[in-house]
Amino acid sequence: MNDIISQNLTVLIKNIKDKKISSEEVTKSFIKKAEKAKTLNCYITEDFDSAIQKAKKFDSKPNFKCKLPGIPIAVKDLFCTNGVKTTAGSKILNNFIPTYESTVTQNLWNEGGILLGKLNCDEFAMGSSNETSFFGNVQSPIDKNLVPGGSSGGSASALASNLTPITIGTDTGGSIRQPASFTGTVGLKPTYGSCSRYGIVAFASSLDQAGPMAKNVKDCALLHEVISSYDSKDSTSIDFKRNNYSELLTTNIKGKKIGIPKEYRVDGMPIEIEDLWTKGIEYIKECGATTMDISLPHTSYALPTYYIVAPAEASSNLARYDGVKYGFRSEGENLIDMYERTRSEGFGNEVKRRIMIGTYVLSSGYYDAYYLKAQKVRKLIKSDFDEAYKKVDAILTPSTPSSAFKIGEKTNDPVSMYLNDIFTVPVNLAGLPGISIPAGLDKKGYPLGLQIIGKAFDEQNLLNIAHAMEEKINFKNNIKEWWIK
Ligand code: GLN
Repeated sequence: MNDIISQNLTVLIKNIKDKKISSEEVTKSFIKKAEKAKTLNCYITEDFDSAIQKAKKFDSKPNFKCKLPGIPIAVKDLFCTNGVKTTAGSKILNNFIPTYESTVTQNLWNEGGILLGKLNCDEFAMGSSNETSFFGNVQSPIDKNLVPGGSSGGSASALASNLTPITIGTDTGGSIRQPASFTGTVGLKPTYGSCSRYGIVAFASSLDQAGPMAKNVKDCALLHEVISSYDSKDSTSIDFKRNNYSELLTTNIKGKKIGIPKEYRVDGMPIEIEDLWTKGIEYIKECGATTMDISLPHTSYALPTYYIVAPAEASSNLARYDGVKYGFRSEGENLIDMYERTRSEGFGNEVKRRIMIGTYVLSSGYYDAYYLKAQKVRKLIKSDFDEAYKKVDAILTPSTPSSAFKIGEKTNDPVSMYLNDIFTVPVNLAGLPGISIPAGLDKKGYPLGLQIIGKAFDEQNLLNIAHAMEEKINFKNNIKEWWIK
């Protein structure tokens, strides 16, 4: 069994196509592994029986032309799945069973993928540690005291511990890249508009993007190719020519120019992160590309801008959870009382904090001073990247300012939690693609990631650079399966 679950996606697909293993065997192997890994708390909803039925059905009439032939996949519980509970990690959606499927997950099933279940995440994807989930925190497979990162923490932990061969997450300010970095996996936040937002529980609509998480860049490229599509059901979906990213993947990046932004050398950054970045620059050169110092002058405003724009949009998006249309309701004396009780009891503290910040910055007296100002600064941040991309093809930075932190370490200090997103949020504000690849271990044996930021719609180039670097880095994760007694 260990043999099957440790195979990466590309190998699994080959073995299924060569009829060396069946979809049923593969599906059952991942389920068996998940049953032994309950302590990690990766799953909110398991859909195992149905997954086995679907696998049997696939085996009885296999379609090997599919890109994910009979491959079982667990997904973040932010994607609506028809007939399968979708909670967004919140009590308020604890009994919500969608009657429709998100476009991104539908794309997986259209290519032969099979739903294993729904993975834990921070409540409404608000968080960097998976500790805000109503369903409890997720443990990192690296060490039981560590967070797996967030908000796609269940996805990252499940992937790194071989409970699923690939997974998908969402990234509003870093929620794919930061957990990928913390768990030694690969995570791509695509260009805004590449993957449909239809059927994804909304957090901050102008920033949210779904994206692939995988064990290596090739798997990530293939998964991206499956989930990225134009969708008329999402008004922000963009109709552009999408590549067969995995087929066009190359390690030949000779002649590419990679920018190194000086503003990412933040105060107090651990020396290990500095060293990792320096090593990254060396790898780039070994791959035949060149590096160049660049400036992104408005970087220090990205975090405050994000923490105005994201809560503003969240406060508006979450207004729909009123006890009438969806999920949980707490009865009240009258309508207003019912609304108040439902929202007070249904939302957790971090979500309430965001709603309060959001309503404040959108209120008539403060709109110009906060929200409008933040939108202007957002434009400046985007212009910094536009200027840089006149000179370079991509940008290299660390993914996070530290390796994974301890469970509970930052829960009482939201600002220090928010600071963890310092290198990822500018990418969302500018709508650009960014990928985190594992690049080394720190002294404690915890994974560290490097982030490559690309031009809009230039995912191919981004994946190629990541693939070339991956080959040089030759990363080995440090997972000792502490959760198996
Ligand atoms: N950690 C960030 C936040 O709390 C980003 C979350 C995300 O990307 N969904 O908002």
